[in-house]
Amino acid sequence: MMYKSLENSNHCVDFNQAIINGISPDKGLYYPVNIPHLPKKFIENISEYDLHNIALEVIRQYVGNNIPDNELLSIIKKTLSFPFPIYEIHKNIYSLELFHGPTLAFKDVGTKFMALYLDYLQKIKFINKKITIIVATSGDTGAAVAKNFYGMKNINVVILYPKNRISEIQEKQISTLGNNIISLEISGTFDDCQNLVKTIFLDKDLKENLNITSANSINIARLLPQMFYYFSAYKQLKEKNLEIIFSVPSGNFGNICAGIISKKMGLPIKEFISATNINDTIPRFLKTGKYEPKKTIPTISNAMDISNPNNFTRIQNLYEKSFSLLKKEFYSYSFNDKETIDTIINVEKKYKYILDPHGAIGYLGLNKHLSKLGNKKNIIGVFIETAHPIKFFDKMPNFFSRKLHFNNEIKNLINRKKLSIKIPNNFTFLKQWLLNNIL
Ligand SMILES: *Cc1c(COP(=O)(O)O)cnc(C)c1O
Repeated sequence: MMYKSLENSNHCVDFNQAIINGISPDKGLYYPVNIPHLPKKFIENISEYDLHNIALEVIRQYVGNNIPDNELLSIIKKTLSFPFPIYEIHKNIYSLELFHGPTLAFKDVGTKFMALYLDYLQKIKFINKKITIIVATSGDTGAAVAKNFYGMKNINVVILYPKNRISEIQEKQISTLGNNIISLEISGTFDDCQNLVKTIFLDKDLKENLNITSANSINIARLLPQMFYYFSAYKQLKEKNLEIIFSVPSGNFGNICAGIISKKMGLPIKEFISATNINDTIPRFLKTGKYEPKKTIPTISNAMDISNPNNFTRIQNLYEKSFSLLKKEFYSYSFNDKETIDTIINVEKKYKYILDPHGAIGYLGLNKHLSKLGNKKNIIGVFIETAHPIKFFDKMPNFFSRKLHFNNEIKNLINRKKLSIKIPNNFTFLKQWLLNNIL
């Protein structure tokens, strides 16, 4: 498989090069030159395969001859090493829990896959110098990258996170490891962090001196493995023989983008709902056709405090850049913090299920959409629980602290010392700091 730049389709690279570049030299996102279609038989008989072999079948199409199947399968087995259960909250409404990995949010899958793949590229000497991974985080990417890249040889990781805008557990996950994990606390928003990272990529000195790549969902190695969730959920729900709608709490729109690619590959999914907090660039876009990001507003679902979602151009390409094709099966709704908290409280009361703020928004989006459809009986709604509620204990309604179980690992984490370095929202300053400090 080759990947073209969405800015200039003449620039094409293979999977290995696309991972190392992160973003194409002309600033375009990489995008597969075609979306392969899986054999019908495979989808029909999906129940007969285990998740590792399903994942292999799905991803090998994108990796091509760059890695032998047995090596790829071994990466997949190490990546998908925890469960992805679905839980029926009430009739035909399911939570797809993606928070059972080491950092308690769905981003463990993409980052682990990417870390192991880079490790393989070092092993075969495709990469033969030290590289620097630079990543902007709204909380969970940083945590997952820190954990999954910790201690890797010849890889430095630099994580930019927005000061005071991530949860306490997220900050501790990012900032307490040290070693090859460098955390920078930026006085700004996530969009500021993301802009700094984009500017770093365009800077020749930095790019050449530090061998930079990205581990955000702009990197296809992060994005594509997220398809595994949708295949796993489908496998678990197939025998019900009903149409499936996914509601995905969305920030940078990487997770939902992977869902749409899965559908294009042949996975039977009826519709997608992207549920956002009040940073509602996409819900407004679907109403007006105008893409007008506003200043980012902090919310309790902080991993989605993003107004300029990176992956949206990929989604537009998946719908042939046609507004009407997009609107046929892609919906988006936004919700504020009060609605989020009320939902967390009500769902716990009624169904004894504790949502996290992001999952709560997914649940709200799903219900809103289903009520529009007139609550049809032949539909299963799946919302994605993207993080464990404990990660946001400091943002949850008070009485939840008592209901959430703090295990020793979390207690130890909270007591660890923060090692991050404070950096102003200023590119010139940051550049000098990186040149002086990253060796
Ligand atoms: C990253 C994240 C999201 C948003 O995912 P995108 O792929 O950026 O749309 C939602 N919820 C949680 C908990 C996250 O960490």
